[in-house]
Amino acid sequence: MNRLPNTPFVILGLAILVAAAAAAEDLPHVVVLATGGTIAGAQPAEGDPGYKAGSLSIDSLIAAAPGMDKIARITGEQIASIGSQDMNDEVWLKLARRANQLLATPEVDGIVVTHGTDTLEETAYFLNLVIKSDKPVVLVGSMRPATSTSPDGPLNLYNAVAVAADPAARGLGVTVVSNDDLFAAREIQKTNTTDLQTFISPNRGQLGEAYYGKVWLFNRPINRHTTSSELSLDGVEALPRVDIVYSHANADGTMVEAAVAAGAKGIVLAGVGDGNATKPMVDALAAAAKKGVVVVRSSRVGSGIVRRNIEVDDDTLGFVASLELNPQKARVLLRLALLETAEPAEIQRMFDEY
Ligand code: ASP
Repeated sequence: MNRLPNTPFVILGLAILVAAAAAAEDLPHVVVLATGGTIAGAQPAEGDPGYKAGSLSIDSLIAAAPGMDKIARITGEQIASIGSQDMNDEVWLKLARRANQLLATPEVDGIVVTHGTDTLEETAYFLNLVIKSDKPVVLVGSMRPATSTSPDGPLNLYNAVAVAADPAARGLGVTVVSNDDLFAAREIQKTNTTDLQTFISPNRGQLGEAYYGKVWLFNRPINRHTTSSELSLDGVEALPRVDIVYSHANADGTMVEAAVAAGAKGIVLAGVGDGNATKPMVDALAAAAKKGVVVVRSSRVGSGIVRRNIEVDDDTLGFVASLELNPQKARVLLRLALLETAEPAEIQRMFDEY
């Protein structure tokens, strides 16, 4: 015999469901924008070395990090599915525009971007300069693919969502979560090909930690970023070409001349030591600067400050000094700066401030 459900239990059940839905509505809304990378990487067969970056969808990444639904209401969008060695302007422009659009709505409290680690620092710094919101934007990757014996992606993603959902992370600019640490986009650098602890901030240290969903802040960025950045993508269809030229013993001017011939509007020198190069290379850079190509001196060393006029007479040659920005980050700033001006003194001001 069929029995009618017991009315008080039905009412109680419905009340629990309504309360749970209301509680989920009260949680911060974090949008995960996925671009690929090892965090979404899959091995050809379990236990085999090698993997294809960007194989897994955003939904499977979210499903692999249980407990995130207790700290945020999460929705996901697939922006790209690439290894970040293939990161390009098309994805950068799409990502930045979508992030700005989402952040401008009151329904979104923060954004997480999943990304390969190879060029993560470049995308993070790019977004740091063109995002126009003080809401948290957090980049996250992993060093081991999702299918490895011990993947690091799920906890990294969990911690990134925790930072994006945390009001204390507002106003920090774009940040990066990796291996329980929290970094500022401007300061982070990949330093090891395979270690989990690959990211460091060599000059200024990390911002804090993101440990099992708890955010600990012990530093704040002091350079201009996001809402105080004058740099913007409004009306921008394409970014100017800027090449990086690597300096070494016996270098001549060939690579500099090739960059100029390819149409570079700017050249970043990955210099030896304090942004130095051989005399033939400096002569080629000076000739490029005379033609209106903006030359920025950075260093291949990996830490420290490239200051003006120490061993190279920047004032006479018309060069810009990158200060703490490594060559790949100097390239990002120079490309955005060139949208505004090609005047070396004005671009030096931007390197001083950003
Ligand atoms: N090649 C990969 C990428 O950058 C490496 C990684 O994600 O760790 O997409």
